[in-house]
Amino acid sequence: MNQRWSERGVKRYIDRYAPVYGEALAVRIYTSQLLGKNPELVLHGGGNTSVKAAFGTLVGESIPALYVKGSGWDMAVTGPEGFVPMDLRQLSALKKLEDLSDQAMIEQFMVAMLKPCSFHPSIETLAHAWIKSAYVDHTHANAILTLTNRSDGEQIVREALDEEVLVRPYLHPGFSLSKDIAQALEANPHVLGVVLMHHGLFTFDDDPRVSYENHIELVEKAKGYIKKHISRSFFSFKLEAVPDSLLPEITPFIRGALSARTEDPDHPFRPVILRVLRDQKMLEIISHPRWEELIRGPVLTADFLIRTKPWIAWVDAPDLQDQNHLKDQIREVVHRFVERYTSYYEEGVRRNGHSSPMFDPQPRILVIPKLGVFCSGPTLKEALIAADLAQTTLEVKAKIAAMGGRYQGIEEDRLFEMEYWEPQLAKLSGQSGALAGKVAIVTGAAGAIGSAICRRLLEEGCVVVGTDIAEERLGSLEGELASEFGENFLGYPMDVTDEASVQEALREISLRFGGVDILIPNAGIALVKPLDELDLEDFRRIYRVNVEGMLLFLKWGARVLKNQGTGGDIIFISTKNVPSPGASFGAYSATKAAAHQLARVASLELAPFGIRVNNLAPDAVFKSGQRRSGLWEVCGPERMKARGLDEKGLEDYYRNRNLLKIQVQAEHVANGVVFFATRQTPTTGATLPIDGGLPDATPR
Ligand SMILES: [Zn+2]
Repeated sequence: MNQRWSERGVKRYIDRYAPVYGEALAVRIYTSQLLGKNPELVLHGGGNTSVKAAFGTLVGESIPALYVKGSGWDMAVTGPEGFVPMDLRQLSALKKLEDLSDQAMIEQFMVAMLKPCSFHPSIETLAHAWIKSAYVDHTHANAILTLTNRSDGEQIVREALDEEVLVRPYLHPGFSLSKDIAQALEANPHVLGVVLMHHGLFTFDDDPRVSYENHIELVEKAKGYIKKHISRSFFSFKLEAVPDSLLPEITPFIRGALSARTEDPDHPFRPVILRVLRDQKMLEIISHPRWEELIRGPVLTADFLIRTKPWIAWVDAPDLQDQNHLKDQIREVVHRFVERYTSYYEEGVRRNGHSSPMFDPQPRILVIPKLGVFCSGPTLKEALIAADLAQTTLEVKAKIAAMGGRYQGIEEDRLFEMEYWEPQLAKLSGQSGALAGKVAIVTGAAGAIGSAICRRLLEEGCVVVGTDIAEERLGSLEGELASEFGENFLGYPMDVTDEASVQEALREISLRFGGVDILIPNAGIALVKPLDELDLEDFRRIYRVNVEGMLLFLKWGARVLKNQGTGGDIIFISTKNVPSPGASFGAYSATKAAAHQLARVASLELAPFGIRVNNLAPDAVFKSGQRRSGLWEVCGPERMKARGLDEKGLEDYYRNRNLLKIQVQAEHVANGVVFFATRQTPTTGATLPIDGGLPDATPR
């Protein structure tokens, strides 16, 4: 990581932002992004920057202002909208106070803001205001934390960075930390930076380039020191192989164990998404002869806590040969963690007089030595953040051990203060959508109904895996959904008629997200032929997809659900043809009826595991947007010809045959899926018609 400052780069930012926001802020955005784009310096909203510059009012006054990064904004991408202009005179005046509570400090921030904002300025705003230089850069760089987070940290920082920096003890971010920094700098105005124990680095200068380059130089110096003192032999040991089948089997179980229980019988668990880390580096750390030392102790910095919890949980001497024994071990570890966390919370509340409700007490990070690091979060995004923070924590701890040091994190009572600190809580996005934290698999996702179901589930916050054999159409669906829903949608090729393909897909999906909660068997094909013309091979082709495909998906999906132990929902896309078959539709109606019966049997077998199985019975759906259904391709043109109708005429025909005179849309079916998946009623084994009212198709 070297200096990345380029005059061309600066000019680009000045050209783009200076005409509206002024040159000072334009350059501020440039160096903030340089710092933010480097994961060794900044992770997921950590770190912050500021610049002191004039703020012009509507009536032409010029006010000295601090433009400081908003809390939770990602420095890698933050533009002018992420910097809050604040009245510098007001912020400076606060330094006269002896003390200021967090609550009062936040209020003062609101008072000093020069433009209305929907977010808070950085919790380190006062430090930015009171450091005299125009530009202030602050990160939680890994290399700095590798020096500070050890028992002899202060001495090591001085050894590594000479007299160029001030070293300050860990203090709760806010008024007292800011005052400590400001006073220390008044006494020593010529240092290049301030290192905060267990926290990070500040650099500053009136020249943005100098502040940035000092920052990089100090981090490079820390890295050089670490490199020099690391023992190369620390990682020279042989990795033990673990049985191949273990990981895909144990991952859904772990997901279940990390999901908190609730008192609500309709939603007895709060599911989490998992991300498993097991690259070479992670395996070396968690398989190390001294692995326990590398995991023990709190996470690296206070701003990790809301994503990771204070500590990583681990299984002592895991039995990797006996899965049942390993499951018992995991249960026990989670149980002990929940007890420890609950008493840590109760103690913290008692000491701090806090009123925030307790987070789910399950661990967010669980290590099974030799096997993997299992990171969880209430959404995929938060699971990915937890995984990055866990990886960084373990890497830094390993480096400290390889240097012969002893890890020392923040003290326990300080951990609680930060984990439940109001400005930190504001960074949590909260649950978005009724199905947040759940994973659904939709078969036949590339078709009209399948794609509409995927979209509706995504809108409810679900992680959705769309499977299909039509890889090209699946790819186009993925492209369409990616811009809106990002990584929450995954297209995965799967052939429901091939048992190996179904098994492999469920294994891969479990490894990727931790497991699955909602299965939507939707893949189906149709054929229009009277019985006396029906070729046996044609019938078998329909049967393989509609019946065997249903069976295989149910079989392997139910195994994952049972292993996970958190219940689940299966919603079969049946058809009105089951209760009310149509002429020339024998192969379709009979095979769908068989699949429908499988779903009803599944509802009997799976109810004891909290798994609900229901059916939707739509009447003909021909398209969703531009996407034609398979049914349309098979029977649309033929039906038009037989009835002497055009496309519009055929749609009218179907609409006019139901009581409500409504054309059934793919989106109606998708709404039915959401109805069952969100568990609006205590229902299983039922069929919901989605047909506008067809008396002879009403289930009896
Ligand atoms: Zn900080």
